[in-house]
Parts: sequence; structure tokens; C-alpha cells
Amino acid sequence: MAGLACQQAQSAEQIPVAVPVAQQTIPDTVMEQPPADTLAIPLDLDYIMGRFDPSKHPDFVLIDPQYADKTGMYLRKDTYKAFLEMYEHAKKDGIQLKIKSATRNFYAQKSIWEAKWSGTRTIESGENLAETTPDPKERAMKILRYSSMPGSSRHHWGTDVDLNNLENGWFAEGEGLNMYNWLKAHAGEHGFCQPYTAGRPYGYFEERWHWSYTPVSAKLTAYARTHLKNEMIDGFLGSESAPMIDIVKHYVLGINEACNSTD
Ligand SMILES: [Zn+2]
Repeated sequence: MAGLACQQAQSAEQIPVAVPVAQQTIPDTVMEQPPADTLAIPLDLDYIMGRFDPSKHPDFVLIDPQYADKTGMYLRKDTYKAFLEMYEHAKKDGIQLKIKSATRNFYAQKSIWEAKWSGTRTIESGENLAETTPDPKERAMKILRYSSMPGSSRHHWGTDVDLNNLENGWFAEGEGLNMYNWLKAHAGEHGFCQPYTAGRPYGYFEERWHWSYTPVSAKLTAYARTHLKNEMIDGFLGSESAPMIDIVKHYVLGINEACNSTD
């Protein structure tokens, strides 16, 4: 059978004939894929609130596992391109970046949030919030110490990554401190900014691992400032707490001012 297959492969019809590049027609599917740095910015509320599937979105790409500590994570193509440039720059300087988390859509965040809201999962302090915290605002504030509210997360956008370690303490000494100092000095050269710095008046706590690709995310933040309302953040258990907390002003917009600039 192997011989037969070989003979078939060599029949005249199946031998590929070289066509000069100028005469080749490029399939439409290729033509429709814009280069990563010319993707349109999706100024759209469903996008801002993460109501889409990144695995099916044409602007998203699967992260190569060599840059990450798990498989199946996605980023926007423009963000991924910039990340790979930053990765190579860091590597030359002896810094090994690794993506721990990337895009998480509304539905992924909803399952985390609702597990904590309903007490099927205890929060980091060990508390079952359904038992300890009946007040919705108070309960939401406790979840927000470690998890974002569905619809309010920058991880929805495909522009944000968590790098290497999810403890600020890791970035306070040794390898982690070297990395953090490198990121503070050079991430901006590649368009990345730390949105959750220490000392902001409100919003998520300091996260030294969380970096955002501002050529896209600053425009999404600006759009959220004018279009996103607390009442739109709903569709999950405990969403009545969103206006009580003023989730848009305090959490979506409550970031390091430097990350609002696209310069
Ligand atoms: Zn993050």
C-alpha cells in the first residue's frame, strides 16, 4: 500500500507547480486578517464588559505555552505582539517573564464571583461570605479585595496580563524585585503600564504583577468613562451592589493615572 500511495503522489496532477508570487491569488481569509498593529479598537460596551468568547474572536490569538504557565490563554493580537517584543527585551537583560493570566471574559469572572458570593467557595480569609456577610455592599467589597466584579475587569479586554507571581511580596526582593524594577524602567517602552499601583484613593489593591497594554486599554478606559454605567454591570448574583460601590468610578476608572495616556 505504501508503494501505491507513493505512485499516486507522483502522478502528474498532484505534483505542485511553482507559481510566481505575483500571479498567486491570496485567499480572502488571509486578506481579512489585518496586521496586529492595525486592529480597530473595539469601542463597544459588550466588549468592555467582556461579553464575548476570546477563542472565537478574530482579534485574539492563543498564547504560546512557552510564554505562559498554562495553556488555553488568549490575548489581543496587538497586545501579544507588544508582549513578545517586551519578552525578548527582558530576556536579553536576564529577566524571564511568564504570563500567569491573560483574558478572562465575563462568564469566567461570573463563575469565580458567584462561587464566592454564594459561599460555595470561601474567600482568601477563609470566610464563607453567605454566612458572615449578609449586607450586599459589604459582601461585594470583601470579594473585591482579590477578585474583580464581572463586567468591570480589565482582563476582559485582552490587553492585560498577570506576570510571574500573584503576591506583591514576591516582587519585593531578589528575582522578583529585579523583575519589578525592570518592568518599571522598560515596560513603558513596549506600551505596558501598571494600573494598580500603591497609594491610589480607591479601587483594586496594589498588583505588581498586573500590566496593561495602554495603546489599546487607555482608549477602552476613556470609552468606559463616558459610556459605562453602574447599572449596566449586572447579570450575576450580587450585581445590586455595583451602584452601591460606584463600581465604574472606583474600580474601572480608579487606576494609575499614567495608564490613561497613550503617548
Ligand atoms: Zn490581573
